[in-house]
Amino acid sequence: MLLEGGGFDLDPALQDRYRGEVVGRPYYSLEATRLHYFGGTTGHWGGFCAPLDPVDFSSRSWVPGSGWPFAPETLEPWYTEAATLLELQPGGWAPSDAEETNAPLLPVSSDALGHKLWRFSPPTRFGSRYRNDVVRHHHIQLLTHAPVVSLRTTADGTALDHLVVRQPGGHTVRIRAQHFVLACSTLQNVRLLLSSNDHLPAGVGNAFDQVGRGFMEHLEMPVGTLALMRPQDMQRYAYDWGVTRERVELQLPVEVQRRYGLLNASFSLDPATAGSALVSTFDREPPDVLEAYRQDTRSGMTSELRAAALAERRAHDVNTVRRSPFFTVMTRQEQAPNAASRVTLSNDRDAWGVPRARLDWQLTALDLHSMREGTRALGRALGAAGVARLQLVDWLAADAPAWPERVSGGWHDMGGTRMHADPRKGVVDADCRVHGMANLWLAGAGVFPAGGAANPTLSIVALALRLANHLSATM
Ligand SMILES: Cc1cc2nc3c(=O)[nH]c(=O)nc-3n(C[C@H](O)[C@H](O)[C@H](O)COP(=O)(O)OP(=O)(O)OC[C@H]3O[C@@H](n4cnc5c(N)ncnc54)[C@H](O)[C@@H]3O)c2cc1C
Repeated sequence: MLLEGGGFDLDPALQDRYRGEVVGRPYYSLEATRLHYFGGTTGHWGGFCAPLDPVDFSSRSWVPGSGWPFAPETLEPWYTEAATLLELQPGGWAPSDAEETNAPLLPVSSDALGHKLWRFSPPTRFGSRYRNDVVRHHHIQLLTHAPVVSLRTTADGTALDHLVVRQPGGHTVRIRAQHFVLACSTLQNVRLLLSSNDHLPAGVGNAFDQVGRGFMEHLEMPVGTLALMRPQDMQRYAYDWGVTRERVELQLPVEVQRRYGLLNASFSLDPATAGSALVSTFDREPPDVLEAYRQDTRSGMTSELRAAALAERRAHDVNTVRRSPFFTVMTRQEQAPNAASRVTLSNDRDAWGVPRARLDWQLTALDLHSMREGTRALGRALGAAGVARLQLVDWLAADAPAWPERVSGGWHDMGGTRMHADPRKGVVDADCRVHGMANLWLAGAGVFPAGGAANPTLSIVALALRLANHLSATM
């Protein structure tokens, strides 16, 4: 049985359930970053995909709290199926596995600088792409407008007994099952676990005060302007919305990350005019939620029209990229695991009586050190190879760098229900089962103990497939 709190269409009254408080570092409005309807936030995601890197799974001495409780090989088999569901180009993830490898990569020493391959989903909108598959499936019973408002445990608090669902008109339904999977997104999963305290006063899975801790984002910001010293065809670095299926970005090798004590990051190059990227802050507003919905419904465009439009844009894009000697360097840096960066409950409740989420997003000195020293290492590698010069943005180049007032994330809510073998250090075990609960599993980026440089959705889907396989084997 699949319980969906929203309907097939976005409804502002239901979306209001996601409204919450932001009390730490400025963050996007919580009701705008996730979509509450069938298909969820894939209704306005961007489709940037890459798997986590092997280093993301390891326990790094220079990144406190890092490490997943399993090796990269555990997730690897699930990435292939996840990529198919997200409609990515098939193939391996080395830059040489890209479909088009004709244009050259920047000639840099591989000891100093590497490349990371990204693939782009159309982007797949799960709500429209998979609606019929779900609705017509013989083994899936879908209930829409069925928000879970509470998790009820057995009296001894070691298992879930039932879910409480409040339907339109205030009608309450209890749902019993053998196994339960919460897949309501990072913040909403935390909200439900913390507010469900009938037999467990601190909330479900929260015996050691771990639920909500370790909220993470990808720090996505322009860090400098790169000037190519010799013209080169930069097509393999180019990105055009809805057109590009693959591109490469720059990445510091693990040895360099270790040497300078850096978090993992990926650097993209976007054509710029000289000076235009030298902004000291970067303040991207979150997309308008209803506009995202309109985009979703617009995707009914016929395939011929779409192909013609895409071909025209591609020609334009190739010319722009080939002409430009200047590029804005954008970083997509992981955030250091940080227990003080956390989600708790607000005193305010939604119309269904559930306490709203309160986000206290916090960064550490390691995040800032990494952004500055990582960008400098990138500049040194490009300069030493005689390929380009990199000018840092003012706030990074300052003698005593400090974060600008607004730090932008990628809308990638991660952590809060992190995975760890030890219940004192995490909420779920390596199978995504909530510690201390016999029949409750979590899906979503909330379980990531470390976020890596890759956007999360490919790994979310891979983890969900692995969990489904695990559950079907136990039934
Ligand atoms: C603007 C934007 C751009 C993005 N771009 C990218 C990108 O390029 N690449 C990438 O990897 N990621 C991207 N993301 C992130 C991506 O959208 C999320 O990682 C992904 O959608 C999260 O999946 P999820 O299933 O955990 O949550 P969601 O997709 O939010 O799904 C949660 C589901 O649970 C339902 N639900 C919630 N609460 C309840 C309840 N109480 N009862 C019943 N049902 C409930 C919701 O209605 C929804 O259907 C982007 C996000 C945004 C906002």
